[in-house]
Amino acid sequence: MSSALQNQRLLYRLGFFVLFVLAPPLDLFRLDLTQGHFILFGLDWTLGLDPFLRGEVGVGHAALNLLLRGFLPIALLGGGLLWVAWRYGRLYCGWLCPHFSVVELINGLMLRASGKPTLWEKQPLPERQPDGRSLQPDRRLWPVTLLVVLAFALLWAVVLLTYLLPPQEIYTNLFNGQLTRNQSVFIGVATLAFCIEFLLARHLFCRFGCAIGLFQSLVWMANKRALVVGFDGGRASACIDCNAACDNVCPMRLKPRAIKRKMFTCTQCTQCIDACTDVQAAHAAPPLLQWVRGECALQVSDREHGRRPAVSKHCFRGIDVRVETATQARIRHSSIVRHGAPRLDRAYVSHHGE
Ligand code: SF4
Ligand code: SF4
Repeated sequence: MSSALQNQRLLYRLGFFVLFVLAPPLDLFRLDLTQGHFILFGLDWTLGLDPFLRGEVGVGHAALNLLLRGFLPIALLGGGLLWVAWRYGRLYCGWLCPHFSVVELINGLMLRASGKPTLWEKQPLPERQPDGRSLQPDRRLWPVTLLVVLAFALLWAVVLLTYLLPPQEIYTNLFNGQLTRNQSVFIGVATLAFCIEFLLARHLFCRFGCAIGLFQSLVWMANKRALVVGFDGGRASACIDCNAACDNVCPMRLKPRAIKRKMFTCTQCTQCIDACTDVQAAHAAPPLLQWVRGECALQVSDREHGRRPAVSKHCFRGIDVRVETATQARIRHSSIVRHGAPRLDRAYVSHHGE
């Protein structure tokens, strides 16, 4: 599955991952524990309290420094992130986060090795891919998968240390085999912890372990009109031929046709939309899953406890059965002949309680 949006997302994620690794050695951002303050764009970023402690300036000056150098940057950064989340959801997670990049990479490798994107998946996923290709699991890929997990765990451990101690010292010591005892212990323990997390609990971390992700989700849930993946329920019968491709590709293991509350951790990666686009392309029809917002988002965010907001026909780029083309009608008819009367697929029914 490859679309312009997925290629664009890959570029963003690669760029941010490189930035994540290079920020400390380039002095773009790090906390230097040996100096006791942050380094930002090559400059020392302190709270400016030293003159106050030496008695050279008064309380007012110190408070202003705290406000300008401490509170304001945090409020601007945090506020900006939450504003984006309020309107667009966890865009940071799906489009930038270096941890989510590892999650997707390992999901893909495990899928190729075992047919399951995680060790917790009960059954292997269908071999038929949204675009019709067949993906057959190959157990010989397990060693590669485990090697990649180890390599990324080690990389994360080293990079994390360079956010705390002078990067030049860490990389020099590492390449010369002269890490201090504490540095070795830190890297060893962190690598082990990341290995376990990447192998067994990477989704759990994204769901509940990461404060950045959790707060984005909470803010997003509070805005019922925010951007969300919507399902064109009026055309649900078009799912009849599909093996729930949208569920299968979701890297967060969500059910994209469900209501918003059940998609609390959606990262707006749009893989479900692309999968549906591929599936429906075979029927010359637009996808049933599409990004919606404003009034159109209510059919996903406000659809529970008996509430069923009306869906305007403008919410989805859909085929109107009244203007169905001859080809679409033929495909629809042959599908009914082959499979009987249209029914909702089981995954959709269970998630909508219908
Ligand atoms: S529901 Fe769709 S957009 Fe959200 S994480 Fe899953 S695949 Fe990505
Ligand atoms: S919305 Fe329906 S047709 Fe589209 S991918 Fe999901 S199950 Fe398949």
